[in-house]
Amino acid sequence: MKFFYAYKVPILTSHTAEPPPYVCMDDPMCTNKNILQEPAKPVEFPLNNKMQQALSDLVAKYDAEKMIAGLAVTQIGHPYRMIIFAVPDDPVLKKIRPDLEQTMQKTVWFNPSYTPLSPEKRKDIEGCFSVLKYVGPVERYTHIAYKATTEEGKEITGEASGYLARVIQHEIDHLNGKMCLNHVKENEKIDREEYITARKKLQDLARKELAQTQFSQPRQSNFA
Ligand SMILES: [Zn+2]
Repeated sequence: MKFFYAYKVPILTSHTAEPPPYVCMDDPMCTNKNILQEPAKPVEFPLNNKMQQALSDLVAKYDAEKMIAGLAVTQIGHPYRMIIFAVPDDPVLKKIRPDLEQTMQKTVWFNPSYTPLSPEKRKDIEGCFSVLKYVGPVERYTHIAYKATTEEGKEITGEASGYLARVIQHEIDHLNGKMCLNHVKENEKIDREEYITARKKLQDLARKELAQTQFSQPRQSNFA
């Protein structure tokens, strides 16, 4: 583990009144969708004004969503290597994502990358804020190594598995211009609204099952 200079980026609060709308592949009104298919630019420190604005928008957008796992800043039109995500220790989410073994609190990473630690993959349903009409099954590595720079400017490395590894891969792929959901086979696509309705029913069922045990109800990860 290596430390950069002591620049501290104020990240976990945002002053953006209204962050930009999502860039969506399947929205005919969206004029800047190329950003979703191009590699994003590395972030340099200290952040310049445009990067500061991107960061502020990213946090504001994330905080405004109720069902969110993560977001890449390219999804709101900024061309930088920045992501935000969280995998909460949520018993309801665990029932729905049985591979949720590892959790992580709300995290912003700059210039993140990953490499698979084994060829093993797992398929599971993913939703994406950049795809309006459908969700679908995406194969992901089950165990990865990651590298990133934190908001404290600290370079970190680590390993992630299961659902956390999935969320990290989804977000970092965005920075590499990859939208895995775009490659879901036609017959495997699931209507997004139907999925959200079905997911809510599953969550309600899981809550009922868990009702006899004491649990809190944090933010539920879902879309990325
Ligand atoms: Zn996405």
